[in-house]
Amino acid sequence: MSYVPHMSILPILIHPDPRLKKVAEPIEAVTDKLRKLADDMLETMYDAPGIGLAANQIGVLQRIIVLDCVKEEGEEPRPLVMMNPEVIAESDDVGVYDEGCLSIPEQYAEVERPAVVTVRWLGLDGQTHEEEFDGLWATCVQHEIDHLDGKLFIDYLRPLKRQMITRKMQKLKRELARG
Ligand SMILES: [Zn+2]
Repeated sequence: MSYVPHMSILPILIHPDPRLKKVAEPIEAVTDKLRKLADDMLETMYDAPGIGLAANQIGVLQRIIVLDCVKEEGEEPRPLVMMNPEVIAESDDVGVYDEGCLSIPEQYAEVERPAVVTVRWLGLDGQTHEEEFDGLWATCVQHEIDHLDGKLFIDYLRPLKRQMITRKMQKLKRELARG
């Protein structure tokens, strides 16, 4: 491939923001513009640092997510770019993780999700991929797919807890706006 990416770090939207509540549109074809977007999203995610990022979080309402849940020092990174990702099978077994989100900085809460999921997606190679994920990968991929449907991890929490976090984020946004 002759395409040489020039990556940039994109600003990440902070909750509450209407774009985080929108359902993203399916991707029809892999274009150079999408390849560039994917590179920028990976760069933005690694810079944050985070283990996943969905296009809604940078204000792009297209169904594309990036993730890399390799956390061990010295282990090879595994950047994954998924377009139109969907969970096609999930386990009855559940896993609980203390989840966070780049759009909800420094707030964490336990969320229960299926422990193992099979995901199908369109890759940057134009091919359909299918893979089973467990552990942190399973949680992360479900969290990111939720973003594409306008859903945040705090939507799984009880209303009071969710409102408390939202108020904190509103305060944070006011502080950021003031500079
Ligand atoms: Zn998130």
